[in-house]
Amino acid sequence: MRHIAIVGSGPAGYYTAEAALRQWGEGVRVDIFDALPVPFGLIRSGVAPDHQSIKGVSRRYEATALTDNVRFIGNVSIGRDVTVGELRDLYDAVVLATGAPNDRKLGLPGEDLANVFGSAAFVGWYNGHPHFSGLDPQLSHDTAVVIGNGNVALDVARILAKSQKEFEGSDIVTHALKTLTGSHVRRIVILGRRGPFQIAMTPKELGELTLLSRARPHVDAADLPAETGDAALEPGQRKAVGHLRSFAKAAPAEPQVDEVSIEFDFYAAPRAILGDTRVEAVEVERTRLQDGKAVGTGETYRIPAGLVVACIGYQTSPIPDVPYDDQHGRFANEDGRIAPGLYCVGWARRGPTGTIGTNRPDGFAIVERIAEDLGGFRADGAGKPGRPGFDALAAERGIDYVKFTDWQKIDEAEIANARNGAPREKFVAVERMIEATGKR
Ligand code: NAP
Repeated sequence: MRHIAIVGSGPAGYYTAEAALRQWGEGVRVDIFDALPVPFGLIRSGVAPDHQSIKGVSRRYEATALTDNVRFIGNVSIGRDVTVGELRDLYDAVVLATGAPNDRKLGLPGEDLANVFGSAAFVGWYNGHPHFSGLDPQLSHDTAVVIGNGNVALDVARILAKSQKEFEGSDIVTHALKTLTGSHVRRIVILGRRGPFQIAMTPKELGELTLLSRARPHVDAADLPAETGDAALEPGQRKAVGHLRSFAKAAPAEPQVDEVSIEFDFYAAPRAILGDTRVEAVEVERTRLQDGKAVGTGETYRIPAGLVVACIGYQTSPIPDVPYDDQHGRFANEDGRIAPGLYCVGWARRGPTGTIGTNRPDGFAIVERIAEDLGGFRADGAGKPGRPGFDALAAERGIDYVKFTDWQKIDEAEIANARNGAPREKFVAVERMIEATGKR
């Protein structure tokens, strides 16, 4: 019997479990740990609340979770409640699938002013992640600056731009819906330090901006490289740039009531966040491209703004005793191997890139590597303790973990609490989640 521990119940974790079942069938037992009492990581806390069809992938993970060979062990933090060393003693392989939940820092003066947030915090706030539900952003100024030219910047801009009605059918948490409904933000500036050909936004997500009821995307035509350059772009990028071209061409329309403008400011690198205690403006330096990199031109300007959200990428949380690659903000690893019996997968292995689906081949690849490493291993069948060993440790330490059946009770209660038309109302505090399990 193979005993595998997976730390993290997001896409990378569940695809790895699925791959382990495919590899060993009845010959494997998988325990999936999560620090929260609720599973699915990024699907619940990262994917935008108005992207319900993407969240539907959790049904596939549920199918894996409901097999007898896989357990969910929620509300157990590895590195705090149980060490990685203890897991390595109990399981043949430990796979860290902890994602990249921390914001990369801008490294700019004024970054710590009030109402300046990283996207992990801001997205976590509107998605009801217990760590960020108390964020309380103030949307009292008419201008917000969103830093970065990736899909997260688009998510944040879209959420800030939507009217209350446009959240129907989403699972945005009520505290965020209330704040957004009372928002005074009518101008959203998306800062890209490079140009339109260098965006990391995808066509579908850019196209969504044209569907918003009161928001209008704007691109300065002067920022767009000559159309002859489009042919050299790969097809997805060409399509994305096509959207930017259409935003530049759009004829000025009759202003709408409560219109929100979404302005793409390219060749614009933030240099400082200005303000006394709270952000009041962003200082920006105009850039030009040199060998694909943004270099400052010395020309600066200020954008008065009351909210800044930096969407510039994420980092994995370090875990005690696990080697960490500071430069890339992920675990130090070679093709997913960290140390004998210790592996990483998904964003914890490669950094925050790719789509949810990218984690599937990642999960299958790491299981192949584990199978190679375990090849011929303990053919006598005398393996590590696995599940009974963990349960003994949990009992000794008084850890009353949350099982998948407990999560199903939380799920039911969230669905029962939903606002009209919403799929669920998430619990945003761990204690409320635990209460819903009936444990307390
Ligand atoms: P990302 O795609 O890596 O984009 C990060 C952006 O931040 C880049 O435009 C980068 O510019 C910019 N940036 C980095 N450091 C900066 C700095 N110091 N100052 C100014 N700009 C800076 O990251 P992401 O948007 O967080 O997305 C993470 C992953 O999740 C991506 O793979 C994304 O596609 C995926 N995602 C997908 C969806 C979806 O499919 N709907 C939604 C959300 C996220 P440079 O290029 O110049 O470095």
